[in-house]
Amino acid sequence: MYANILPIRTVGADREQLIAVCRSLQAPETDLARVRSLPGLPYLVFPLRVAMVLQPGRPEFVSAEKIRKSLDILNSGLAGAHVQFVLVQTDTIYANVTIPVLKQDGYEAYYRFSEMYDTGDTCTLYLVDNDEHLCENYACSRTMGFANILQTSTNNVVMDKFFVDDHKILVHEFGHYFGLYHTAETFFGIETVSGENCRTAGDRICDTPADPGELYNVYVNYSGCEMKGFKEEETGLEYHPIIQNYMSYYAPCYMRQFSFTEGQMDVVFSAATRVRHNQIVALATAPVFK
Ligand SMILES: [Zn+2]
Repeated sequence: MYANILPIRTVGADREQLIAVCRSLQAPETDLARVRSLPGLPYLVFPLRVAMVLQPGRPEFVSAEKIRKSLDILNSGLAGAHVQFVLVQTDTIYANVTIPVLKQDGYEAYYRFSEMYDTGDTCTLYLVDNDEHLCENYACSRTMGFANILQTSTNNVVMDKFFVDDHKILVHEFGHYFGLYHTAETFFGIETVSGENCRTAGDRICDTPADPGELYNVYVNYSGCEMKGFKEEETGLEYHPIIQNYMSYYAPCYMRQFSFTEGQMDVVFSAATRVRHNQIVALATAPVFK
């Protein structure tokens, strides 16, 4: 499905796409005229439902303040793609699940859970507990969140409660929700440093340079936010991934904002108007962040 939503590069095409969306949602002619006359593109407003998943044995709540802060982080992360979320519902679900439980049997439990609790036209952010014991035999692991890439059989993002107001993870998961892959993705093939196969390999977005992945973070200077000295074996060309990209797997850089590239924002906007368009509830002007 992803192959069909390669980035659109011009505002004109985006505007036409948006008008098509408005039509499919039976928007009145006055709205269409407004979209046509705006100097820039309007923001697409999506509803968000937050569902706190509480284990009956250890019910841990997330404060409304923390949820509000998370939503601000999410919206400022997605603003460049002209996508915004508005909180429309908060639910509490009592269920004995944790993130590792949802991941069991190749995410089988997650699919059952989604089928039981998802709603059709409103994306749900599930806030779930992680395991109490994250380390065993000196090996520790923690999944901080996950989301299906552009699947419409589920309509949600899952987050570890503890990380919901993290400045990267929530935006990263919604990046997946709107069709983005990791910058170091190898499923479609390994992107070369020269970038000649950038449309078909890696994350299939050409303005995210080849990324060898976090395994090589020993080559990263996190103050300067750059990788240096790691070269592609065949060509000797040096890797220069974007360390602070939302879809990379590196640690945060000192005093540096996370970001999406133009190409990534195009993909998000395309997915929002082509795949998730049934959920758009309003068109708005530029949001203001405090
Ligand atoms: Zn991810």
